[in-house]
Amino acid sequence: MPSLDLANPTEEHRMLREMVRDWTQEHVEPQALEYDRDEKFNLELMRSMGELGLLGISAPEEYGGAGMDAVACTIVHEELSASDPGFCLAYLAHSMLFVNNLAYNGNEEQKARILPKVCSGEWIGAMAMSEPDAGTDVLGLTTTAVQQDDGSWKLNGRKMWITNGCIDEDGTPADVVWVYARTGTDDRGRVQMSTFLVEAGMPGFSVGQKIYDKTGMRASNTAELVFDDCVVPAANLVGGVGESLIHMMGNLELERLTLAAMALGIARRSLDDMNSYATDRTAFGSKIRDFGQIQRFIGEGWAKYRAMRAYIYDTANNLTIGVAGQRLDSDGVKLFATTAAKEIADSAMQVMGGYGYVGEYNVERLWRDAKLLEIGGGTLESHQKNITRDLARDGEAINR
Ligand SMILES: Cc1cc2nc3c(=O)[nH]c(=O)nc-3n(C[C@H](O)[C@H](O)[C@H](O)COP(=O)(O)OP(=O)(O)OC[C@H]3O[C@@H](n4cnc5c(N)ncnc54)[C@H](O)[C@@H]3O)c2cc1C
Repeated sequence: MPSLDLANPTEEHRMLREMVRDWTQEHVEPQALEYDRDEKFNLELMRSMGELGLLGISAPEEYGGAGMDAVACTIVHEELSASDPGFCLAYLAHSMLFVNNLAYNGNEEQKARILPKVCSGEWIGAMAMSEPDAGTDVLGLTTTAVQQDDGSWKLNGRKMWITNGCIDEDGTPADVVWVYARTGTDDRGRVQMSTFLVEAGMPGFSVGQKIYDKTGMRASNTAELVFDDCVVPAANLVGGVGESLIHMMGNLELERLTLAAMALGIARRSLDDMNSYATDRTAFGSKIRDFGQIQRFIGEGWAKYRAMRAYIYDTANNLTIGVAGQRLDSDGVKLFATTAAKEIADSAMQVMGGYGYVGEYNVERLWRDAKLLEIGGGTLESHQKNITRDLARDGEAINR
């Protein structure tokens, strides 16, 4: 009788993991150091993931996707991130923040026109929520969209920190961006937000700047986007006017789960590297793994890694994509796993001494990349706030 394996609940999941792990070893690992050092996004490598069916992993098969579940999404992010979290972040922005959002919230015309292109890798997608003056405070966004007499919309404003916002060094924007903009106020005077599909080449849409000198995630492009009287056809409004919160909330749970999965990949790799190093390295006539202080790094790293893995895959097995209701745990896994990953990467660097501090030995890159996960897709503080709020509403969750 096989034992319960939350991380590989079916044969299909196990095969997916094996395929992504092999592919990552062959294609992602060899380029990771160079693309981080050069602060470049490997666009061709990303496009090639279309052939593997990974770019539309959660999108329906009829539009070119793989139609898989949240566990599958978690597996892909864990495996990619164990090698190259920066590249994985670009993949997440495309496949989770754009493709999944469109697959679950777009109308038939939008899905039929755009999904096959983003699932194949012909088009690269991004999602633009954050602005220079509004991040956690989403309702504080100031980008506006005003409907014109002919039904089209005019967007004005700037978006900041957009992963895949540009796809090269020449200011070429993403082919299509999922943009949240303010379209007025509702009956109760609250900000009303609507969602638009902005495509490269639409007048008034451009890249303000590619952001350089990031601490980590340097193999993903981060950009400022500018909307200057940007004209968006009526057909590119997603859902109804004022429906952005529905799109945001539905997608955020999968985003946070897969960001936690990235943390898991970082933790696994860091633990693996520190464990083998502790055997190979000797000091004072002993393997360093014989020293109690080194055992603390390895022992605590193992326990934290196993705890995050169990919580993440438990949440993934219970998350139905497109159905809201798992926020308590999607916030919970991201809160716990991101800091745990940062700590395990830090332990790995400490165990590896001077070698841990240089790029060739990988953990310094993982250590830098890990920090972003405590900020992007919701800060640690926003998770603490959400969890506390949700437990005020449903304290019974603790005893279930
Ligand atoms: C590399 C990178 C990639 C990114 N990719 C994307 C992307 O693709 N799309 C996108 O839309 N955004 C993206 N972001 C933006 C990211 O989601 C935001 O940086 C994040 O949401 C935090 O927003 P902020 O930077 O404006 O900080 P703020 O919201 O200004 O927060 C500053 C500090 O105040 C704290 N704070 C704020 N409000 C509260 C509160 N109510 N209670 C307690 N503390 C609070 C925060 O936790 C934080 O510590 C990316 C960011 C980075 C760095």
